[in-house]
Amino acid sequence: MAAPAVGIDLGTTFSCVAVFRNGKVDVIPNADGNRITPSYVAFTDTERLVGDAAKAQDAVNPENTIFDAKRLIGRRFEDPVVKADMKLWPFTVINEDGKPKIQARFKGESKTFFPEEISAMLLSTLKSSAEAYLGKPVHNAVITVPAYFNDSQRQATKDAGTIAGLNVLRIINEPTAGALAYGLDKTEEEERNVVIFDLGGGTFDVSILTIEEGIFEVRATAGDTHLGGEDFDARLVEHCAGEFARKHGLDLREDKKALRRLRTVCERAKRGLSSATQASVELDALFGGEDLHVVITRACFQELNQDLFQKTKNILEQAMRDANMATDDIADVVLIGGSTRIPCVQQMVKAFFGKEPNKTVNPDEAVAHGAAIQAAVLDGDPSEIISDLVLVDVTPLSLGIGLDGDIMSVIIPRNTTIPTKNTKNYYTIADDQTESWIEVFEGERKMIVDNHKLGEFILFGIPPFRKGQAAVDVTFEIDTDGILDVSAVETITKSTNQITITSNKGRLSKEEILRLVREAEAMRQDDEARREAAEAKKELERLCWRGQLEGQGRVRDKCQSLLEWLADVGAKASAREIIAKRQELQLLFDMANLKI
Ligand code: AMP
Repeated sequence: MAAPAVGIDLGTTFSCVAVFRNGKVDVIPNADGNRITPSYVAFTDTERLVGDAAKAQDAVNPENTIFDAKRLIGRRFEDPVVKADMKLWPFTVINEDGKPKIQARFKGESKTFFPEEISAMLLSTLKSSAEAYLGKPVHNAVITVPAYFNDSQRQATKDAGTIAGLNVLRIINEPTAGALAYGLDKTEEEERNVVIFDLGGGTFDVSILTIEEGIFEVRATAGDTHLGGEDFDARLVEHCAGEFARKHGLDLREDKKALRRLRTVCERAKRGLSSATQASVELDALFGGEDLHVVITRACFQELNQDLFQKTKNILEQAMRDANMATDDIADVVLIGGSTRIPCVQQMVKAFFGKEPNKTVNPDEAVAHGAAIQAAVLDGDPSEIISDLVLVDVTPLSLGIGLDGDIMSVIIPRNTTIPTKNTKNYYTIADDQTESWIEVFEGERKMIVDNHKLGEFILFGIPPFRKGQAAVDVTFEIDTDGILDVSAVETITKSTNQITITSNKGRLSKEEILRLVREAEAMRQDDEARREAAEAKKELERLCWRGQLEGQGRVRDKCQSLLEWLADVGAKASAREIIAKRQELQLLFDMANLKI
């Protein structure tokens, strides 16, 4: 029997996988025994590292240690957000046909990877952890995304799941998952409105839900896909670099390694400031032989990030307005995401609602926890506790098409319950117009230039009438993953000319995905072979050390030569070759009557 479906929180800085079994959620530890896994992938001359191992070596290999793939996924290279982030990353991002690709040296060669591939490597590692934990192959998963992720970001995340060999049952919104984690034991109670305030490493989301008898209905959602702990870190980095420049007249930002070291220490200082009122950032010989020593007080940290904290408040206010609720209507405010540990964020939320926020759910694990619950529901788990559970989510952004004059015509307004479908009727704007160019946008602004373009297509075959006499029906359909499908039909002659957007410019093509699936599998096998070889090597080394201690003559000589072999050619040998050597040694051990 296959393993149950798992829930995956694919975070900007950390990821987490959980499973619902025997009526409860288990958060699954990774191979290092940790319940959350850094969203890091590193490439070296010999291997690929994912998670803790990748993060642990980032100071010595910054150009090839990739993080923040979530900030790139589903975005175009020209996106201003990508442009701004690139300046801060120690790794290189290049433009390939308008899509950003990450460059790294791997096994002595320069390689490029789509953000989807990096995310797939993380997903694949979480999948392996789940398989080791459950003792069965894992196929099905629910993956979470920020509520404010747009269509291309959702599509790309789903593609990453496919590349990792997962069947993505559903994409759900992180705050909604957080609400499930919070509300599972509250399904019997009467109607209550809950605010989920989710401030993570890279994204901020607010969702307002009404929970009643197991129905979780999202009433409004708002957020910023580029606001979180890493922005606070970046402010600290800027501040420290400024202090360094003032004192030593040197710009350490030129040096990627120095910048990376500084970032790590700033992040640690930031965490420290959540419990202590001051923290120091100290680095010996950081740049140009000079040391850095800066003391940061909590007040200074607050000051440096004031506008960002204010931004979260503005977004919270917008969500409350959209939900048409006053603070008194809210029964509970749930904080999730690591950055909600920052005292001034907690104070702001407390002051806003006039009550203490609820901290009963673990901010690091709540999202994976909720995803696991949703996975179990979709998997048909018979547990009573989830039997009546229904999730009603909304679309975060208005969706529509561009009209003459570059005006946005909204077909599905934001915060509409999904799945949903709506059709609007449009007329030709010129005499004898036989085709119509349809551009699809998302966003809240009146003019299309201010919104985000998702795709475009041309509808041919309109009969040549006077202007305004031919009509086109444009239908938008959003599925339960929040993914959009658009079609257009010319109506007057009832001709069935219809085009559906199957891929937009930001998305990988089917062929590319298939190719990446094969490559990911090959890499996985490579990792596995490397792991087996490493284990065989460890075992052979152990025997050699034993043989040198306890054996004599030929045994000792053989052990010595094998140790030399392991340090040299054997370092790159396959598990098979190493096991063959071990068997040779074993024979000598047997002849000398040495027990292993
Ligand atoms: P998440 O994406 O929810 O895993 O959140 C990760 C973010 O939370 C990172 O930016 C961390 O630096 C931040 N974080 C974790 N613990 C703390 C803390 N004690 N104080 C401030 N920020 C924290």
